[in-house]
Amino acid sequence: MTTHVLISGASIAGPVLAHCLLSYGYAVTVVEKAPQLRPGGQAVDIRGPGKEVLRRIDLDTQVRASRTQTQGMSLVDKDNKERAQLRADMFDGDGPIAEIEILRGDLASVLYEATKDRADYLFDDQIVSIEQTQDKAVVLFSSGRRDSFDIVIGADGLHSGVRSLVFGPEQRYVHDLGFLTGLFTVPNHLKLDSWMLGYVEPNCSAGIRSIRNNHEAMAAISIRGDRSDYDHRDVASQKALLRKQTGHMAWEVPWLLDQMDGADDFYFDSCSQVHMPTWSAGRIALLGDAAFCPSPTSGQGTTLAIVGAYILAGELTRADGNHATAFARYETRMRDYVTATQKMGADNAKHLIPQSHFTIWLQQQMFRALPHLPGKSLMMRKTLRTINGIDLPDYRELLLEPRT
Ligand SMILES: Cc1cc2nc3c(=O)[nH]c(=O)nc-3n(C[C@H](O)[C@H](O)[C@H](O)COP(=O)(O)OP(=O)(O)OC[C@H]3O[C@@H](n4cnc5c(N)ncnc54)[C@H](O)[C@@H]3O)c2cc1C
Repeated sequence: MTTHVLISGASIAGPVLAHCLLSYGYAVTVVEKAPQLRPGGQAVDIRGPGKEVLRRIDLDTQVRASRTQTQGMSLVDKDNKERAQLRADMFDGDGPIAEIEILRGDLASVLYEATKDRADYLFDDQIVSIEQTQDKAVVLFSSGRRDSFDIVIGADGLHSGVRSLVFGPEQRYVHDLGFLTGLFTVPNHLKLDSWMLGYVEPNCSAGIRSIRNNHEAMAAISIRGDRSDYDHRDVASQKALLRKQTGHMAWEVPWLLDQMDGADDFYFDSCSQVHMPTWSAGRIALLGDAAFCPSPTSGQGTTLAIVGAYILAGELTRADGNHATAFARYETRMRDYVTATQKMGADNAKHLIPQSHFTIWLQQQMFRALPHLPGKSLMMRKTLRTINGIDLPDYRELLLEPRT
């Protein structure tokens, strides 16, 4: 009999898992709280093993076709004068500007297109309760629908509903790294050509990058703070908080703040990590940011989500219906990789928003030195080791139809 898996969350981890499971012969339902695929978000990076998974699951071409094609970034001063520059082709395409960099919303669209005809997508709905019996998970949705599934996977992000229902409140698992970021689309008024600009003042930073063939730009503003400083349902108060803390900034920030008021794809969240002692309970498991968010400062949230989905689907299929074995193997294969990535994310967070003019100057010197160091610097070599720190199992023998 076909195994039926319910996945909560239609962003990155959920649809990649759906795609893998469908290719192994599962029936898949994906439930998403938003009324449609959510737009928004900055560019996310796919590095090392994430790129390899995309090749193995035949999504490489589609994802590459939607890349931002950002060539690099400049750190600028208040007069827009370049102080340091990093190029995308440094570090084999896995450096600070990754070779595969794609707007989160665009990546979600590619993944949705690849799965929408084979999986059952339920938008504007969410799980309100899950009851586990001997051989099923019985799920009640907010729409009133009740259904039973063999497996339920929470791929519903940092503020996961499945995690709250099954493992307890968010406060137990979500750890803030001390700053908040707002992201939104703006006109490309600086005529940036596949380029990104970053500007830093003590305790706050702003950036603008051109997107969609330079027709538009994406703005990012970061400030110090944590989840207790705002209400995650109240967009107006989030915008007000950003304005209050960055209203004094120079450069393009006053213009960005004006644009922010009219932005309809405004996304705001804390820079946080999720630490959990285990990622499963019975027939239910967590995946992606819901289980092990490494924070945007690691640059690896999307790669972890893609790799985790590939491994979870492979292990579920190899265990042939024994979900306990599958979940244990998934965790064993992923755990060290996740721990090292989270450490990198926490370390990076310490330096991301300098607190004084002196540390801003130091940051600029470090960026300037990076391209000229002989070979790869020690720091970058360590970063690349972390990024590539997992062996990907080969699950080709499980495919219903061999890939070409
Ligand atoms: C709108 C948005 C913008 C983002 N922007 C950035 C960014 O700029 N930089 C960055 O590094 N990371 C960003 N992220 C996070 C990034 O996508 C993840 O770190 C990474 O790709 C892992 O993805 P994920 O699928 O595990 O989680 P997410 O991408 O967070 O996706 C979770 C999905 O679950 C849905 N969901 C939430 N709760 C429920 C529920 N109770 N029931 C059903 N569905 C639910 C959400 O609407 C979302 O579609 C963003 C996420 C979102 C949702």
